[in-house]
Amino acid sequence: MEENSNFIKTIIKEDLESGKHDKIVTRFPPEPNGYLHIGHAKSIVINFGLADEFGGKTNLRFDDTNPLKEDQEFVDSIKEDVAWLGYEWDGLFYASDYFEEMYDRAVLLIKKGKAYVDDLSADEIREYRGTLTQPGKESPYRNRSIEENLDLFERMRNGEFGNGEKVLRAKIDMASPNVNLRDPVIYRIAHATHHNTGDKWCIYPMYSFAHPLEDAIEGVTHSLCTTEFEDQRPLYDWVVAECEMPSVPRQIEFGRLNITNTVMSKRKLKQLVEEGYVDGWDDPRLPTVSGLRRRGYTPEAIREFVAAAGVSKGFSTVDAQMLEHFVREDLKLKAPRTMGVLRPLKVVITNYPEGEVEWLDAEINPENPEMGMRKIPFSREIYIEQDDFMENPPKKYFRLFPGNEVRLKHAYFIKCEEVIKDDEGNVVELRCTYDPETKSGSGFTGRKVKGTLHWVDATHALPAEFRLYEPLILEEEGTEDHEGEEKSFLDNVNEKSLEVLEGFIEPNMKEAKAQDKFQFFRHGYFNVDPKHTTEEKLVFNQIVSLKSSFKL
Ligand code: ATP
Ligand code: MG
Ligand code: MG
Repeated sequence: MEENSNFIKTIIKEDLESGKHDKIVTRFPPEPNGYLHIGHAKSIVINFGLADEFGGKTNLRFDDTNPLKEDQEFVDSIKEDVAWLGYEWDGLFYASDYFEEMYDRAVLLIKKGKAYVDDLSADEIREYRGTLTQPGKESPYRNRSIEENLDLFERMRNGEFGNGEKVLRAKIDMASPNVNLRDPVIYRIAHATHHNTGDKWCIYPMYSFAHPLEDAIEGVTHSLCTTEFEDQRPLYDWVVAECEMPSVPRQIEFGRLNITNTVMSKRKLKQLVEEGYVDGWDDPRLPTVSGLRRRGYTPEAIREFVAAAGVSKGFSTVDAQMLEHFVREDLKLKAPRTMGVLRPLKVVITNYPEGEVEWLDAEINPENPEMGMRKIPFSREIYIEQDDFMENPPKKYFRLFPGNEVRLKHAYFIKCEEVIKDDEGNVVELRCTYDPETKSGSGFTGRKVKGTLHWVDATHALPAEFRLYEPLILEEEGTEDHEGEEKSFLDNVNEKSLEVLEGFIEPNMKEAKAQDKFQFFRHGYFNVDPKHTTEEKLVFNQIVSLKSSFKL
């Protein structure tokens, strides 16, 4: 068990043993301003996983305090993604349901002389706040009377002022070495319609004021967030204490998940979606939960990956190959094996009787014999992969070339006798002969061949589209901070991240449905795309190739 432990579990165990809590409550608090990505999956796995392990509860709470960016579409997608990852929330809450209580707590602060209405502009406030090496300067409005502050705050609520004209600030310490404590803004004016509260409010609480209150209102015991909030912890504790919240949550920070060559910020993902670089939030190239699902990743693989990436305070970037490793592991025993030709080249087997069809037996998954057998047709015309033939092969090329013999998986040896070209000299067809003695499973040992090719029967094959992917972003450092950075990551968008091929698959695939997963012999794992698949044609997304250099 020890290897699965982490510093958060240690804290929780201590809190349960000491009797500080008899039950833990965690929460996953997304802002509904975009779709969830795999970084959020880490937070989900940690929060729900800890509650499951210690018999506690986890709330799904929409942190919807910013009306300008939030939308019902995002609320719906987040619910779908959390459930798909395999978790059930206890309470489903909206921060906006607490606006009245938050307002009351702000009034309490004013009455205690711990908050004031400030008329400085946002720029002036920033300037007055000072820097790490320079103390802040007090606002000329800092010493307004309690009565005046109460009156102004109420008038802010009543809509008497325009956006940005006034804010409410906590009165803490303009000389604090922690800049977050230099009278942070806790309410701002925004005349905007909120997806949940409509036009009821025109003042909205800031994250650093709202979040601790939300946690305390729900009786959250351990409020887990990422390390960029570490410096905010003193403010978090200040808000809970000064607002006299009866329940005291504890904020604990862990390191964000970052993955090589992967953008993982909602702002950037949104930009890729809105500027048309991808086919929606669920584009299979995106690290969104819905994109990974459409690509063919499984909840099991994502959960195992996140667990293996570990929980620590430290900052780390995980190799994208590690995620691929876990999906291969998960699909190895589950995915049926099949054959598909992505770039077809026709082969005519000249000594095979015209009009005859044989139905060959093939295992559905040699690593999992319980999955049984399938039938594949074989006849005079088949397709092989274009790059499984070379007219002038280099040394050690063991596939098909004039005069060479190879094995067709599950079928016979064939030998290349003739190459047919079009007017421009492109190879358009091969004429081969087969040897009936060499039938797969017949025990033939007469001679050996070095290459084994996959193929499909040309008369029975079904057309299919194959979508192959490369990383969408080249050389993304994965070191972006929470606020984002100046340099445009759009410069690194890979123009060859999607390749669409029209090929053929075995006819027994006719019944395949959206989200079914297969291992195509020699090509890797593929998922039936739920968006582009039609009655006429299956569309496959490549999940991962077969080989990996990655070792855990
Ligand atoms: P982003 O910066 O990508 O927009 P966010 O933190 O603004 O993400 P929220 O909706 O506020 O998005 O996140 C909900 C929860 O998920 C928060 O507790 C946040 O700390 C956590 N989270 C977000 N990104 C990651 C990540 N890369 N690794 C771990 N946890 C994350
Ligand atoms: Mg956030
Ligand atoms: Mg964000």
